[in-house]
Amino acid sequence: MGFCLFGNVAIGAHYARRRHGAERVLIVDWDVHHGNGTQALVEQERDVHFVSMHQWPWYPGTGASDDRGPHRNVWNVPMRAGLPAVEYVDALREAIDAATTGFVPDLVMISAGFDSLLGDPLGAFTLEYEHIQELTRFLVERAEEWCGGRVVSALEGGYAPERLAVACVRHMMALE
Ligand SMILES: [Zn+2]
Repeated sequence: MGFCLFGNVAIGAHYARRRHGAERVLIVDWDVHHGNGTQALVEQERDVHFVSMHQWPWYPGTGASDDRGPHRNVWNVPMRAGLPAVEYVDALREAIDAATTGFVPDLVMISAGFDSLLGDPLGAFTLEYEHIQELTRFLVERAEEWCGGRVVSALEGGYAPERLAVACVRHMMALE
């Protein structure tokens, strides 16, 4: 729908399952837009759990909380614009907990969209670098318990170049 040519993370999840023996994959998408392409590409796979937090109402208009996919392996977390950042962090952590109750991933993939940062021209979330670090550390620590720390992160949105650059570095440092 205009942002992506390929659903990189969804392709990566399918590839990991078919070629690398990962049975269960958790995808976490904190891009400010709903991961509609990812959902379309993974919602038929019961062993891929997909969590997307996104601004609501906002482009592309999909991703209501009651849209769980045909196998209920999708957790959509629509959030209003301009909330205190801690509300986004808490909501995403809760959804990750829900998506991994009774489901231990072999691999965690992050759709790391930094248009969820405060000041992005295409979004109105309020995350700062420290929140990106916090969410990254949360996922790395969980991944260490689940699957020996296997995390793959892919850059997605982010339209304020200087903020995007700093966020990428802080995110990568937190992935160590
Ligand atoms: Zn986006």
